[in-house]
Amino acid sequence: MEIKRTILPQEKRKPLYEDPMKLQFGKMFTDHWFAMPFNPEDGWHDPEIKPLEPLSLHPAANIFHYCQEVFEGQKAYKSPNGETLLFRPEENARRFRRSLQRMCMAEVPEEIYQEALFELVKIEERWIPRAKGTSLYIRPTVIGTEAALGVKPSAEYLFFILLSPVGPYFPKGFSPINLWVSDTFSRAVEGGTGEAKTGGNYAASLMGGRIAKENGYDQVLWLDAKEHRYVEEGGAMNIFFVIDGKLSTPALTGSILHGITRKSVLEMASDLGITAEERRITIDEIMEGVGNGRVSEAFCAGTAAIITPVGRLGYKGLDIPFPDPEGPWARRFYDMLCGIQFGEHPDTRGWVKKL
Ligand SMILES: *Cc1c(COP(=O)(O)O)cnc(C)c1O
Repeated sequence: MEIKRTILPQEKRKPLYEDPMKLQFGKMFTDHWFAMPFNPEDGWHDPEIKPLEPLSLHPAANIFHYCQEVFEGQKAYKSPNGETLLFRPEENARRFRRSLQRMCMAEVPEEIYQEALFELVKIEERWIPRAKGTSLYIRPTVIGTEAALGVKPSAEYLFFILLSPVGPYFPKGFSPINLWVSDTFSRAVEGGTGEAKTGGNYAASLMGGRIAKENGYDQVLWLDAKEHRYVEEGGAMNIFFVIDGKLSTPALTGSILHGITRKSVLEMASDLGITAEERRITIDEIMEGVGNGRVSEAFCAGTAAIITPVGRLGYKGLDIPFPDPEGPWARRFYDMLCGIQFGEHPDTRGWVKKL
C-alpha cells in the first residue's frame, strides 16, 4: 500500500506533555492521524497520514443515525532499551475485521490494518511515553459515511487511526474497583452485537454505569440478558474469579467480547501454576462462594487497565467484599503481562512485535 504522507515541520508539532505520569486516558492526541476512505467503485483508496484535523461529514451520514461504527483499542510500549513494542497486533487486526463483518461494513484487510498502524506509530514514535506503566493508546475506527436516511448498510466508509499518549492506569499503585451487579440493565444479548467492538454496545451500557456510580460503585457487573443469572463482563472488561483455587472465566456464549487480554491470561495460567477454565458462572455461585470462602478473588482484564482487582460486589441490596481485594493472582497476572508487554520478561510465545 502506498500511503501519502503530509508531515508537519518540526516547529509546527505540538510540544510533548510535561509529566507522562499525569496523562489522563484519551484526552491528548498526537500530531498526525491515518485516514482512508472506501467507496464501491474504488474500494479502500487514497490512504494518508496527515496532520490531525476535524472531520467534515454530511449531517445525514450513516454514523449519526444508524451507527455503523467499529473500533479497536491497543497500545504501543517502550522497552527499557528504547524499542517500540506492540502486543499481539495481529489479534486486533483479526477482531477488527470480524467486528466489521458483523456490522455489515466494508472489511479492512488485516495486512492493511497492520501496515497503516505500524507506519503511523513509527512516525509518532516520539509520543510514546517512557515512564513506568505509560504507553501510547491506539484507536483504529471505521464509520459509515454515506449521506442517506434509508436504513441499510452504508455504501461509503472512513477508516482512521488516532494515537493518544496515556499515563499509568493506577498512578497510586494497584487499586481495586467495586462492581454493582445489575439485574435490570443489559449490555448485550445473545444474537446481538456484544461480540463486536462497536460503539452502540457502549451507548447501551451508559445508564447501568450511571446507576452503579449513584449507588457508590465504579462499574457494572453485567449478567446475561435472558435470565439475569450468568456473569458476563465487568464494565468494559472481561472478568475472572478464583473459585476453589481454580481460575474461572465466563465462556464466550455470544454476548461477551473476545478480549485479547482474556485470551492471554488463559494461555499464561499454566505458566503461573493455576488451572484455568471457561464455563458458565452464575451470580449466585459467586455471592455464596464469597460468603463461604470458595471464591477468593476476582479481577477484570482489558487493554486499557490490563488487570484490575475487584474489591466488592453490590447485589440485591447486599455489599460483599472479596476476602482478598488485592488478590495474589491478580498481581501475578498483572506483573507477568506488563513484563511481557514492556519487554522486561522473555516473550516465549512470540506475542511481542518490535517495530
Ligand atoms: C475491548 C473490550 C474488552 C477487552 O478486550 P482486550 O482485547 O483485552 O482489550 C472487554 N470487553 C469489552 C466490552 C470490550 O469492548
